[in-house]
Amino acid sequence: MHILEQEDLHYIWHPFTQMQDWQKETPLVIESASGVYLKDIHGKKYIDGISSLWTNVHGHKKLEIHNAIRKQLRKIAHSTMLGSSNVPAIQLAKKLVEITPKNLVKVFYSDNGSTAAEIALKIAFQYWKQKDNGKYKTKTKFISLSNAYHGDTVGSVSLGGIDIFHQIYKPLLFETIKIPAPYCYRCPVNHKNIKGCKFDCLKKFEDTIAKEAHNIAAFVIEPLMQGAAGMIKQPNGYLTKIRKICSDNNILLILDEVATGFGRTGKMFACEKENIQPDILTMAKGLTAGYLPLAATLTTKEIFEAFLGNIEDHKTFYHGHTYTGNQLGCVAALANIKIFKKEKVLLLLQDKIDFLTKKLEGFKTLNHIGDIRQQGFMVGIELVKNKQDKTPYEITEKIGHKVILEARKKGVMIRPLGDTIILMPPLSINKKELEKLLDITKSSIEIVTQK
Ligand SMILES: *Cc1c(COP(=O)(O)O)cnc(C)c1O
Repeated sequence: MHILEQEDLHYIWHPFTQMQDWQKETPLVIESASGVYLKDIHGKKYIDGISSLWTNVHGHKKLEIHNAIRKQLRKIAHSTMLGSSNVPAIQLAKKLVEITPKNLVKVFYSDNGSTAAEIALKIAFQYWKQKDNGKYKTKTKFISLSNAYHGDTVGSVSLGGIDIFHQIYKPLLFETIKIPAPYCYRCPVNHKNIKGCKFDCLKKFEDTIAKEAHNIAAFVIEPLMQGAAGMIKQPNGYLTKIRKICSDNNILLILDEVATGFGRTGKMFACEKENIQPDILTMAKGLTAGYLPLAATLTTKEIFEAFLGNIEDHKTFYHGHTYTGNQLGCVAALANIKIFKKEKVLLLLQDKIDFLTKKLEGFKTLNHIGDIRQQGFMVGIELVKNKQDKTPYEITEKIGHKVILEARKKGVMIRPLGDTIILMPPLSINKKELEKLLDITKSSIEIVTQK
């Protein structure tokens, strides 16, 4: 084993990883990258099939982003947003307001998706406490989907509902109301025909609201596609219905676009697909195109104004992370957004999305592929033990993990979510690379599931 591989095993505790298993394998140590390829310390190349955990947008070593960061380094790397401002943070905030739905006019920075969610929920909570002199102060509860994922901090975990990640922390969490996710492959209300679907799975949402809208602060959801839940795709019109229910009942709609933002669904933001304006929107992963940790929580004029008052009114939003609005992150994000326009990224993406859809059709014949869910450049391939009755694999079979190890041998880097194989390549991937990614993924699934 290479000395770095040994030292990884010796010193590092990896995120979301059973370290007992980790220590049985030789760790993959990445040293460099170019375009959609990662390279390990032995010089072996891998297609970055999950965009380095859903962050990379325009490929690795993107010259314009490097230049933007270099140029900024000649001026300053970081100064504080507490009591002062900085040039790129202002420029980026203006840009973010421009590219998001019209009603979002204020930008609150942080440094990752979890903090962006914490900020969203604290803003929503405090907003109702302060609006109209406390007239709505009973609105303190949050509703989210049964299998939601909004981050790993205690507040964002409270919104979450993925039992294997979240169950153990229950005593630490605040209570949230869960409604069934529209997981159509395993429909929570046993609807047989998706064509006749009238979103019966929203009945609990409607019932809860009928009973206690006066207690509900906000509904939180990833629009169109729940990422970490296993790429659970919402049926068309679902988000529109949610928006209407929230608006009719004076409930804030918080959209978590940490995964779906920055082109992943084929639009800059997923909510554009149904023309939805959220009250609060969070973004992180793709914001700096996979370069630096930066996040933002955007909100409306109405919400912002509920925090205005004299100092002794105690309406201030007392929240702020040390590296908030970091200059290097902000220039990377500005360069990212510029590339979208200059290289017509979203326009060129449409053809690649169609190509992806067509290629995925060819996966359907495999014996152990139960469901394929695609939303633009986000894909989840759910493997099942029995296709007829949708029986899942046993957790001890580690089927997803076996598939990604097989793919790794063949030069593809992907990561499963349980038994669902995730594909989310950089938007910059070309058709030939995309074809290779899909061919290797397919043959890896075939080899592992036929064993
Ligand atoms: C990744 C993710 C988060 C958490 O972001 P971190 O940067 O890992 O804290 C939150 N929400 C969604 C939808 C995500 O995909």
